[in-house]
Formats: sequence, C-alpha cells, structure tokens
Amino acid sequence: MGFEKKEIVLIIGILFLMIGMLPFIAPIYAVGIAIAIYFGIRVFVGRKRRMIQKVVGEGICAVCGEKIVKNKCPNCDKSNQP
Ligand SMILES: [Zn+2]
Repeated sequence: MGFEKKEIVLIIGILFLMIGMLPFIAPIYAVGIAIAIYFGIRVFVGRKRRMIQKVVGEGICAVCGEKIVKNKCPNCDKSNQP
C-alpha cells in the first residue's frame, strides 16, 4: 500500500526529470533515459525490499523502514520525543 504511493512519486519525479532533459537532448533520448532510470530504480527497490524481508523478523517501520524491536521503531520513537 505504501509502495503504491512511492511508485507514483517515483513516476512523477522521473517525468519532471524527463521534461528537464528535453531542452538539452532529443525527446526520444529523454524518454529512453527516463524509462531506463525507472526500471533501474524498480530493480534497486526490489532488491532492497528482498534484503529487508530477509533481515526482518518482527516487521519494519512504515515510516523509515527501520527494523521493529518490541513493537517499536528505534528511529521514530526516539525522534518523536522532544
Ligand atoms: Zn521508523
């Protein structure tokens, strides 16, 4: 569910990158580079997720991806306190 949102952000980011490249290179190259970056990131994220799943026993924090220890995120619980 959180992944879907990230995917939309990724696509929007790459679209802006593609538009940013348009003045400098031919549109077909901009589209090609954008698609290459998209799939590159997809592969990278997929590998990272698999690595996280291997490491994680209790689950991961939805906010920062840190490993959950005793139902608490060591990162976010720390930062929530002033
Ligand atoms: Zn966290």
